[in-house]
Amino acid sequence: MTIYQNFINGEWLESSSDRTAQNVNPANTNDCLGTIKLATREEARKAVESAYNAFRDWKSTPAPTRGKIVAKFARLLEDYKEEVSQILTREEGKTLAESRGELQRSINVAEFCAGEARRLNGETIQSELPANFAYTIKEPHGVVACITPWNFPVAIPVWKIAPALVAGNTVVFKPAEATPATAVRLCEIFEEAGIPKGVLNLILGKGSEIGDEIVNHPAVKAISFTGSTETGIKLYEQGARRGAKVQCEMGGKNPVVVMEDCDMDLAVESTAQGAFGSTGQRCTATSRAVVVDKIADEFVSKIVERAKRMRIGDGADANTEMGPIVDEKQFNTVLKYIDIGREDGAEMLYGGKRAEGDGLENGYFVEPTVFDKVTPDMRIAQEEIFGPVLSVLRVKDFDDAMIAANDSQYGLTSSIFTGDPNLIFRFVQEIETGMTHINSPTTGGEAHIPFGGVKMTGIGAREQGSTALDFYTELKVVYVDYTGRKREGNLY
Ligand code: ADP
Repeated sequence: MTIYQNFINGEWLESSSDRTAQNVNPANTNDCLGTIKLATREEARKAVESAYNAFRDWKSTPAPTRGKIVAKFARLLEDYKEEVSQILTREEGKTLAESRGELQRSINVAEFCAGEARRLNGETIQSELPANFAYTIKEPHGVVACITPWNFPVAIPVWKIAPALVAGNTVVFKPAEATPATAVRLCEIFEEAGIPKGVLNLILGKGSEIGDEIVNHPAVKAISFTGSTETGIKLYEQGARRGAKVQCEMGGKNPVVVMEDCDMDLAVESTAQGAFGSTGQRCTATSRAVVVDKIADEFVSKIVERAKRMRIGDGADANTEMGPIVDEKQFNTVLKYIDIGREDGAEMLYGGKRAEGDGLENGYFVEPTVFDKVTPDMRIAQEEIFGPVLSVLRVKDFDDAMIAANDSQYGLTSSIFTGDPNLIFRFVQEIETGMTHINSPTTGGEAHIPFGGVKMTGIGAREQGSTALDFYTELKVVYVDYTGRKREGNLY
């Protein structure tokens, strides 16, 4: 049985801890991938110290050289794409098609960041004084903590680690407890790509222990986190107290607005993809459908039809459209929210329980679930469920749709289905989300396009795209005076 090891100062080390957790395949709990030893606080400190000691040399390595290592990582990830996709499906449960998509996204992000290493430019600025000029330099922070969730255990670490490294930071990577195998594999691939000792460190264990230790360590100058709102806000407060930079990507409650002139089949198929794809476990998942009354009956009956046809099963089976929930805790959370929806008076049209059938006996499978006549005051209209549960809110017209769509503490992504250009532009102007889609699902994104949300979803600079390195760099401003004379006037 595999025992996952920590990667500290270029060495793979087994934790001295005697507390363990099993890494179980959520499609079949009899299939155990390995054992994770829950690292101690002392081991977490060692990981930070290792990153701290490696920082000076890494910072003074030319950025294009740093980028070459990330480029090599991207090429290797391409070589290992199928192998890592298989691990991802077995560990997290998503379908193989989804895993391959996640791997491709990760390769694209790494390639993009490698290219950015040759563009780590500042600017030159005209001075108001003669024989003077100024320029800016982008510099790394030092040790950066990358704290990541289980739902995209390859792509999210890559889109944090790659820009952090290119910028010249050293990294302590703390993945979610549920997905150690992919995390270990990523670090092995970075090792093969030639990452110097201590520049990237991996530590496996509990967020409340080693995560807490890392976040509060004085040598950690920046924390990039993706996960729950509760944890993100806590880390933000903790970081702020000691002046560390914090970037958080947290919850979502992403709406799709469906107007009466829409292409109905496209709206239904895209809503189903957004709501049930990746088993609803994406931060960009569609969790609310805001539908105008006139077409609501038709939309609802078609989405229920689609949900019924969803092929549920082990993600490793090529026929499967929707895999299991990641683990027992999350499985119970999803079922609890379904109960809450019923108790709050929403009309459950389909789903609502553990999915049964051949091959589903030993996994955390839930039926795709559709609630109709959900009102904004209900918890299933407001709280992130992170499962295949769609809440349909019926509204009178576009104005009401916008009120309902924006009635959320979150603001990650959204979409609208309509052919009316006036409504499209009004929607883009009025919707309170960091990303929005027109006539396509709320999900999806590209490696070279910024990603992130507003309101309670996002704190700090946007990840990926032209903004990918913003969080990982500090700006130094340099004034150069080549007059050789004492300054006169302008003495502020
Ligand atoms: P999720 O519900 O997606 O698991 P969490 O916010 O609980 O979201 O976890 C996201 C990541 O944050 C995981 O790697 C987890 O171990 C880590 N984490 C949880 N609590 C803390 C904490 N107090 N300090 C640092 N990291 C934490």
